[in-house]
Amino acid sequence: AKTWILTKHFEGFPKDSNFELKVEELPEPKDGEVLVEAVFLSVDPYMRPFSKFRMKEGDVMIGTQVAKVIQSKNPTFPVGTHVVARSGWSTHTVCDGTGLIPIMPDWPQDVSLALALGAIGMPGLTALYGIEEVLGLQKGETLLVNAAAGAVGSVVGQIAKIKGCKVVGSAGSDAKVAFLKELGFDEAFNYKTVGSLEEALKKASPEGYDCYFDNVGGPFSAVALQQMKNFGRIAVCGSISVYNDTTPQTGPYPYLTMIFKQIKMEGFLQSRWEHKHPESLKRLMGWLKEGKLKSREHMTKGFENMPAAFMGMLKGENTGKAVVTV
Ligand code: NDP
Repeated sequence: AKTWILTKHFEGFPKDSNFELKVEELPEPKDGEVLVEAVFLSVDPYMRPFSKFRMKEGDVMIGTQVAKVIQSKNPTFPVGTHVVARSGWSTHTVCDGTGLIPIMPDWPQDVSLALALGAIGMPGLTALYGIEEVLGLQKGETLLVNAAAGAVGSVVGQIAKIKGCKVVGSAGSDAKVAFLKELGFDEAFNYKTVGSLEEALKKASPEGYDCYFDNVGGPFSAVALQQMKNFGRIAVCGSISVYNDTTPQTGPYPYLTMIFKQIKMEGFLQSRWEHKHPESLKRLMGWLKEGKLKSREHMTKGFENMPAAFMGMLKGENTGKAVVTV
């Protein structure tokens, strides 16, 4: 088996020297155990902040993969079963089945299993819960989402369209902006070249925003908050613009605006609604089959390229879900 180890905790933006590729012999599966082989591996933004709290130097990099059971002494997971596994950055893993989630039984033949890491997986669920459970988005409202061409953002915008809303998205390149238009976003702009973010937000929705799905945080949010309508709602999903900061953010935050506009702001983790995952994945798959939800995967070939794919995603090289194929 090959694994990627976190040799040294990240300081600032991740570097090649934070990672080391190790090769090890795995034991034969014992009774009740299975051997799984990675097919698609996910690289996600959370790995950057989580590594600090959840990992020690020398640990295998955390992460989720779509894997195939290739040896089995556990009747729940026969050979050939595809599962979503929290096995980290590893090509092969022996485990007792705890934490393995079988792919939903009627997964269509023509839909890549890579989507189980994206639109029909954790990022899709994050989009759905942020919209329904946190924002309570209503028909006719206007929603703003940033990192909109990414795994979560692209699903957020499309669900908001399904719900009959006006959607404004921002992303970091003109090609991504074109992708957002293809997905049906009403307005989209490149936050890197737009000049004044305030003007861009005003132009895209002169009447302001009812809801803001925030993936980015930092200065973007300080500006966006000023453009909210009275009683606006903000779902704080991520703050990727500060994940590589070496000093913690201290503000100042626009509290006065929040008070006078009576804004509601809530941070959330998708895992809060884990009990709803199976039903929610079916809903996402339903929209995909109906053609209302489109998905794009940004594929990097080769397990040896995991760190490059991870760092590339943090830099914004991905349109859609960043996935590594073995
Ligand atoms: P994406 O697929 O969106 O990839 C990350 C994207 O972030 C990049 O492509 C880049 O796009 C953008 N980005 C990077 N740096 C900056 C920056 N400084 N300013 C603005 N944009 C930046 O990742 P995900 O969809 O997987 O995740 C999106 C967000 O959702 C992250 O913040 C993540 O932590 C969060 N998240 C939260 C969950 C929860 O339960 N709360 C669960 C899953 C994700 P661009 O070219 O547009 O800059």
